[in-house]
Amino acid sequence: MPPKIVRGKLCPECGGPIHLGRERYSFRGVDLGEFEVYVCGRCGDSSFTPAGSRAIDRAAKAKGVFGIEHEAHAPHMVAHEKARA
Ligand SMILES: [Zn+2]
Repeated sequence: MPPKIVRGKLCPECGGPIHLGRERYSFRGVDLGEFEVYVCGRCGDSSFTPAGSRAIDRAAKAKGVFGIEHEAHAPHMVAHEKARA
């Protein structure tokens, strides 16, 4: 399946084209599954889409790991988690 380019949206890091992808996310060591992300076709920077973020909320609540820290769920935090993994 070819990547779906998101029109009218550019990478905040490099201005490259953004397409939709899926990425695994874990919170406090609990794997929550795969969620929809915007991925830059140039630099590979990724961030969760609004729909992806909502799905993470639901998954985290369902698994009982939802916490106040989730508010700090910014793309750079995600990148930090990936760097440690
Ligand atoms: Zn980029």
